[in-house]
Amino acid sequence: MPAAMKRLAALGLALLSLSFPALAESPQGGVEVGKASAIRKLVPADQLEKAAVQQYGQIKAQAAAQGTLAPENHPELRRLRAIAQRILPHAERFNSRADRWQWEVNLIGSKDLNAFCMPGGKIAFYTGLIDTLKLSDDEIAIVMGHEVAHALREHARERLAKTQLTQLGASVLGELLGGGKYAGAFQLGGSLLTLKFSRDDESEADVVGLDLSARAGYDPRAGVSLWKKMGAASKGAPPQWLSTHPAGKNRIEEIERHLPEVMPLYEAARGKTPK
Ligand SMILES: [Zn+2]
Repeated sequence: MPAAMKRLAALGLALLSLSFPALAESPQGGVEVGKASAIRKLVPADQLEKAAVQQYGQIKAQAAAQGTLAPENHPELRRLRAIAQRILPHAERFNSRADRWQWEVNLIGSKDLNAFCMPGGKIAFYTGLIDTLKLSDDEIAIVMGHEVAHALREHARERLAKTQLTQLGASVLGELLGGGKYAGAFQLGGSLLTLKFSRDDESEADVVGLDLSARAGYDPRAGVSLWKKMGAASKGAPPQWLSTHPAGKNRIEEIERHLPEVMPLYEAARGKTPK
């Protein structure tokens, strides 16, 4: 590799690990998050959201064909949608595009302990997660808040952009550093559901999720009971969600550390929302 290319490649690594100062995006209390990574702009948000709509549609169609897509009047689906209805009005504070998202919540009959929210607000829960762990409304809100936070903070977009950058290499980086706009086409190779987020992304999703659920009037302390249940469940074969979400002691400790920031939001919301 010529020296110039080597320098560019090294710069690439530096660019990937750039950290941004924490910006106060939550003026009315709650948790603070840093500015989202600039790298994510390599993947156009609208194209990614379109791809997510397509993949979500396929998952729904497949579940419908197998008779596992919960019908509109399914009590557990109604429960999920009622929780979403309280959480989603608070989404915009973490992503200004969220007001244009066509949020969807579905329930799929499956033993898998799994739940997700795709870019653009496409949420699904698997019955296995709710039934096996006997989740309370507060605990469901914690899971939903966490998954919604991944979408709002554009973790998938960032991950894909980093993969893209690694594959495309120095030429694209040169364009970006030169102030030019990268004109290459975004290609989504594979399923959004198999993306693995970094530990930092996971921590951020935990914290933002706590904030969202607390604002919606769900007890953020359910984060602790949720992860204890997850930890107990992971003693057997690790279910799908747990394989990407290790239920360690650190996770619970970190949630406990953030409780003082979100408990006031919860108390304030409870003043307004009858439980
Ligand atoms: Zn996660």
